[in-house]
Amino acid sequence: MLLNNVLCRTAALRLSSKGKLICQTDFTAAPRKQHLLPHNHRYLAKAFSSLNSSMVKQGPRPLVICGPSGSGKSTLLKKLFKEFPDTFGFSVSHTTRKPRPGEENGIHYHFVSVEEMQAAIENGEFIETAVFSGNMYGTSKKAVENVQHQGKVCVLDIEIEGVKQIRNSERLNPLLVFVNPPSIEELERRLRGRKTETEESLQKRLNTARIEIEYGTTAGNFDVVVQNNNLKQAYEDLRNFIVRELESQQGQGINVSLNRVCDE
Ligand code: ADP
Ligand code: 5GP
Repeated sequence: MLLNNVLCRTAALRLSSKGKLICQTDFTAAPRKQHLLPHNHRYLAKAFSSLNSSMVKQGPRPLVICGPSGSGKSTLLKKLFKEFPDTFGFSVSHTTRKPRPGEENGIHYHFVSVEEMQAAIENGEFIETAVFSGNMYGTSKKAVENVQHQGKVCVLDIEIEGVKQIRNSERLNPLLVFVNPPSIEELERRLRGRKTETEESLQKRLNTARIEIEYGTTAGNFDVVVQNNNLKQAYEDLRNFIVRELESQQGQGINVSLNRVCDE
């Protein structure tokens, strides 16, 4: 209770360089009115403050987003990165699949050959790896560290075999989100509409989707299931879950920015 009292929550508004409104919330600011507290309370406030500063060294929990190919993960993440430009960093995976038009090496993926991928696996460079739709994918230790060193929430967009490998990792302690499509039929429509797959890779992805949906919607496998029927609603659900989680982490002394760029 007392600790709650000395925890200062500050909120401010500022303009970004592009003139957009940034709503800033900082739960980890130092207690501001210590001189008004009785002596023993001041002692506790000081103790809390040093506890707080040791806890901020611990970064925010990584966010794992999983769901069938075409369920809307990239679309939702794009909106999230846009609204919270300082909060998240993408874990750039390795893959042996060929780049799609518009995909850049080192940004969307590290595009590598099978031989390069195998050598890196043997070298112990990965946290997890999987074969999906005939291609190899993997999250390197470096990809996660690059984001965590910036103090940002590391976002991993990975399929379920990868999730199974890291779900109980004490070091990562990830938050697990599953994005669920309305139906297999609608998933197929969206995947076809994206125009990125051959008929063969599309069928492989749809077959895997059934298994993923079963695992993803089984109680206890994910922290939240975001139902992506309507994009606006799905984004709101994802955003609210993440903001609630990050505010709770801030309340425990973990330093993470929640600066927002408001569109209006
Ligand atoms: P993933 O990253 O999970 O493979 P994408 O984000 O690429 O999926 O989405 C697949 C396609 O579905 C994209 O063309 C995207 O614009 C579209 N899409 C995503 N969410 C919705 C939605 N709620 N309603 C209609 N189309 C959607
Ligand atoms: P795509 O080829 O559509 O980019 O990705 C196919 C699937 O691979 C998606 O479900 C995506 O989440 C998953 N994926 C991407 N990177 C990784 C990774 O590093 N590890 C694992 N396990 N899956 C990944």
